[in-house]
Amino acid sequence: MAVPGSGLAKGLAVTLRTMTRRSVTAHYPDVRPELPARSRGVIGLFEENCTVCMLCARECPDWCIYIDSHKETVPPAAPGGRERSRNVLDRFAIDFSLCMYCGICIEVCPFDALFWSPEFEYAETDIRDLVHERDRLREWMWTVPAPPPLDPAAEEPKEIAAARKAAEKQLAAGARSREAGQQEAGQQEAGRHGTGQHEAGQPGTPQRDGDA
Ligand code: SF4
Ligand code: SF4
Repeated sequence: MAVPGSGLAKGLAVTLRTMTRRSVTAHYPDVRPELPARSRGVIGLFEENCTVCMLCARECPDWCIYIDSHKETVPPAAPGGRERSRNVLDRFAIDFSLCMYCGICIEVCPFDALFWSPEFEYAETDIRDLVHERDRLREWMWTVPAPPPLDPAAEEPKEIAAARKAAEKQLAAGARSREAGQQEAGQQEAGRHGTGQHEAGQPGTPQRDGDA
């Protein structure tokens, strides 16, 4: 059987405990909240990586990605080659008044052109201003946190492996051409010495009959 007044005592104990505990309320906007690095605040566009494949716009459940583009003909890289056509981005915009922050566009982009930024301070008084055009989306890119470091036991990512191999190849080619240059310079030097001896020492210079 419960002792009369025990419930009241328990309640007061909870109140006292809570009163003496530090408050967890953040005084935003004076104090900015410490958000996890991978928070979904806003989407940044790294335009250089975008090939205008339209996958993100097609997969977006809210149809809030607007992309316009045109085709451009690129001259052949080598003489006799074929002309190629490529897509040129004219417009890339995201309407954040419709976006539900599902991240599907970022997941499906095959060229790593879209990233989450933890920035969230872009409230507007006019809903139309929540359509962020490509320049604004690019600005968000500079607030995207660096990826976490790789596990030391992880396999080297193929992009880094390819870049490392290319750098090693370039270094080796540089060293080979330096070596070849040094050898050539050495041979030229030796040739000059040989000719000089021949002229200065004149021991082997054939004497003409009239010379005395
Ligand atoms: S996060 Fe989701 S809703 Fe927002 S733009 Fe990307 S796909 Fe569309
Ligand atoms: S999926 Fe990526 S590459 Fe394709 S249009 Fe969207 S942002 Fe550009």
